Amino acid sequence: MDSIERIAGLLREASFAVALTGAGSSTGSGIPDFRSPATGLWTKVDPMKAASIDAFLEDPVEFWSFYRHRLGSLDSASPNPAHYALARLEKAGFVKALVTQNIDRLHRRAGSQNIAEVHGSIETGVCLSCGKEYTHSYMVEALAEPEGVPRCVCGRVIKPGVIFFGEGLPEEEYGLAVSWSQRADLMLVAGSSLVVWPVAGLPGITLRSGGKLVIMTASETPYDDQATVRDGGRIEETLPRLADLLGA
Ligand SMILES: [Zn+2]
Repeated sequence: MDSIERIAGLLREASFAVALTGAGSSTGSGIPDFRSPATGLWTKVDPMKAASIDAFLEDPVEFWSFYRHRLGSLDSASPNPAHYALARLEKAGFVKALVTQNIDRLHRRAGSQNIAEVHGSIETGVCLSCGKEYTHSYMVEALAEPEGVPRCVCGRVIKPGVIFFGEGLPEEEYGLAVSWSQRADLMLVAGSSLVVWPVAGLPGITLRSGGKLVIMTASETPYDDQATVRDGGRIEETLPRLADLLGA
């Protein structure tokens, strides 16, 4: 039996399996993992500065001159076979919930429904003065104007609903992720190297609650020794095969 067949067996036995995804599930859609060296946009811009709350607060108009390209590239990306396979696994009942660090909405666009987006998402924007929320299309329309930036009715520049460096996690989404991790008898990590805290702590919560851990990620993770099965294959290939094996 190879590792994907063993993972299929574990998913058949699990009563509450939770998937956890990170940047590695979107690299197959052409979205670079900015923590990997020397890829695309991030060779020119330091993401720790450009996508930090301090940079936004200091000069939100300048911030959008950078972020408009980021938003545009995320919008033009499409879900890849890894996203679709996770949506199939959820629809067939093998995966009950999905926690993602990705802000690109691709899991939702592929059909996953029970999702906690613990780093927020580009789906909405928010005004930091009055708290008013705006839709993705509102922001895109404003950005389509020459030199345009999305502004609240109160006049302040809107912040994308993405959690920046230097900000806390969204309480509601993160609370959901923690409670799912406690409840999970199986956590399936796909495309996350599990180094970004506090999300990196979620597999530990599952293990301490008596659940098992499966890791499908190319790079090493701090949890490799504790995983029941670990597979380093490309998840755009291994996840669809897993869904096929389960008839999902
Ligand atoms: Zn406002």
